[in-house]
Amino acid sequence: MSSNNARIMPWILLSLLFLWCAFREVRASIVAPPGFDSPRPVSEPYLATVLVLAALSAWPPLHRWHFEHFLSAKATALADNHRARVHCSTMFDAIFDPEMLAGGHADPRTGKIVIQPPGCTTLSSYLHHANRASEQELWSLGLFTHESMHVRGELNEALTECEAVQRNYRAAKLLGVPDRIAKKNALDYYKIIYQRRSELGYMQAQYYSSECAPGKAMDEHLSDSTWADF
Ligand SMILES: [Zn+2]
Repeated sequence: MSSNNARIMPWILLSLLFLWCAFREVRASIVAPPGFDSPRPVSEPYLATVLVLAALSAWPPLHRWHFEHFLSAKATALADNHRARVHCSTMFDAIFDPEMLAGGHADPRTGKIVIQPPGCTTLSSYLHHANRASEQELWSLGLFTHESMHVRGELNEALTECEAVQRNYRAAKLLGVPDRIAKKNALDYYKIIYQRRSELGYMQAQYYSSECAPGKAMDEHLSDSTWADF
């Protein structure tokens, strides 16, 4: 069982427990419960409550699990088929993560990508309205592509970030963003968020290089590069 599956199991079990309560209530209205002479009517408020609780306990983990699978497949494609497994951390997971202050991290040996909160939530809202992406949402796209580049095999942060800058257009399209908007979002990331890294001191500067520009040393000349025809 993968760690992602292990994380959703308690919630699924809790959901099944509530479903069992619902089943027991309905059964008692058909077959007389032990110690009763005849079936008793269903308590509708009770039935509604346990069904709502069943849905509430199953939905968030299932939704996250589904999004993680979706992101894992897209990260694998971005990493030139090095297998990626994306884990969207919850606040609870993040407390126990020694690297909780980073937006995310990736292990190229295992392919595991951890996205710290609120990264996955921000990325999900970006995908809902990419045409009016906020700076935070563009940042979450860049983070996702960046960690995918680590899984692809790059460890140097400046090279990793530059590879991501050139692939943010591809990444956005893979995630389902329409072509024209994907291009604009990826260029905005390069022109605004990436350029700002050069001015923000050592921690940010290690992610930045002036050679990360069209025609410069780090240009991979990808046919679908963010800055192709720029
Ligand atoms: Zn990195």
